[in-house]
Amino acid sequence: MVIGGEHWDAADGRTLESIDPFTARSWATVPRAGAKDVELAVDAARSALGGEWGTMSATARGEALHRLADLIAEHAEELAVMETRDNGKVIRETRGQVAGLPSIYRFFAGAADKIEGSTFSPPQTNFLTYSQKRPIGVVAAILPWNSPLYLLANKLAPALAAGCTFVAKPSEYTSVSTLRFAELALEAGLPPGVLNVVTGDGEAGAALAEHPGVDKVTFTGSTATGQKIMKAAAENIAPVTLELGGKSPNIVFDDADLGAAVNGIVAGIFAATGQTCIAGSRVLVHEDVADRVIAEVSQRASAIRMGDPLDMETEMGPIAFDQQLQKVASYVDGAVRDGAAVAYGGGRPAADELATGYFHEPTVLTGVHNQMAVAREEIFGPVASFITFGSEDEAVQLANDTPFGLAAGIWSTNIQRAHRVAGQLSAGTIWVNAYRTLAYNVPYGGMKQSGIGREYGLEGLEEYLETASIWVELSGQTRDPFQLG
Ligand code: NAD
Repeated sequence: MVIGGEHWDAADGRTLESIDPFTARSWATVPRAGAKDVELAVDAARSALGGEWGTMSATARGEALHRLADLIAEHAEELAVMETRDNGKVIRETRGQVAGLPSIYRFFAGAADKIEGSTFSPPQTNFLTYSQKRPIGVVAAILPWNSPLYLLANKLAPALAAGCTFVAKPSEYTSVSTLRFAELALEAGLPPGVLNVVTGDGEAGAALAEHPGVDKVTFTGSTATGQKIMKAAAENIAPVTLELGGKSPNIVFDDADLGAAVNGIVAGIFAATGQTCIAGSRVLVHEDVADRVIAEVSQRASAIRMGDPLDMETEMGPIAFDQQLQKVASYVDGAVRDGAAVAYGGGRPAADELATGYFHEPTVLTGVHNQMAVAREEIFGPVASFITFGSEDEAVQLANDTPFGLAAGIWSTNIQRAHRVAGQLSAGTIWVNAYRTLAYNVPYGGMKQSGIGREYGLEGLEEYLETASIWVELSGQTRDPFQLG
């Protein structure tokens, strides 16, 4: 681990294996932290806040983030390969993701010296009253396995721009790239203790979330874990940012460009093997075009190239780990028991070369009802559930009938309908005639049980700042000590 600028094993010597999901073999051994290690990391972050970093100018913090961005760009290939080996995400996506990281750091590097307070005009005229935006302090970040460095950047870049210090706990399935990244941060000149990385499972995550030395907890992961983290943080009244799960509707109207919609459905649920929070896992399709759309999506699914995720030709890699594969399979079985039909896929692929890795076929389920488990719960795998509707009102009602509110897609060539429907959907991100596109300067986050707070853009920076209001008496007169005002 990287704590206070030095490498550490877990205090009790425990380790865990990182399994490459394509070979099903361990490819790295990382420390498995417990409460003692977390304590050390939080202390290191606290000391760094009171040290050089705490007194550094905002301009210098921005420069440090720019140097970090340069180093990421220089090491992009190394980092992309690490991520693909850790979670099986295809290299054509991890390369793109890592190539995009510098922009995130540069956006927030540029924002560091633009953090401003305000002056106010209260009714008490004999005061100069102004506010300061201050770093919230020590930030704990607990992260999932599907996009380790990208999801880290969404938290770390604004937190450092704000002047916070940071303890990151990557997923137990994908620690390697984050450890390497912490070394690059030191090389970029971030003072020791500004970024600390502890590796381990939920035990380390829980120790971090409940630690009284943590001023803010930011989490990306499942809704169930998010609930636990929010409860733990509540003990310390530590604010939380939660980026949680989804069950996003991808809505195809009968006036849609169906070719584009089919492409968007494939992007929504089969890209990244469906292991994305914004997966368009509920495909709501108008009954007049349903047969055609299902046939075309099935056809596209049958042509998807599965294989070694390190091969640029591969379109769908394995599921990230064995237990997750079992989970995906059991949802498909459950859907069939509940009355859904499998239009394509439904199980493990037959090809010999895919037998070792944790592969699951891209799967198209039809006849799904919105109350079935497969339509209500997040599967986090390549399973598209098709639900038909007859009217615009019904589409909106079905889309919103979910505990989640992360993302949604609308496919229609009717501009009035597209805006009308977009305005009615309870989702943090809504795409019209597109799916799965995001940018570092556009706010992103979830409604309902998909989360609290926003990442990206200047709203993302606010999550790591807090406001102090300062009242300066100007008249020098004595005030009535028993009167507020
Ligand atoms: P997870 O909730 O199982 O684990 C996430 C992290 O929490 C891991 O680091 C884990 O070790 C840690 N953890 C587990 N138990 C904990 C506890 N009791 N206290 C503190 N930490 C604990 O999620 P996952 O399976 O790694 O990731 C997949 C989930 O992440 C999906 O639900 C997906 O939708 C969500 N996700 C959301 C977004 C988003 O932006 N909204 C992005 C990516 C992934």
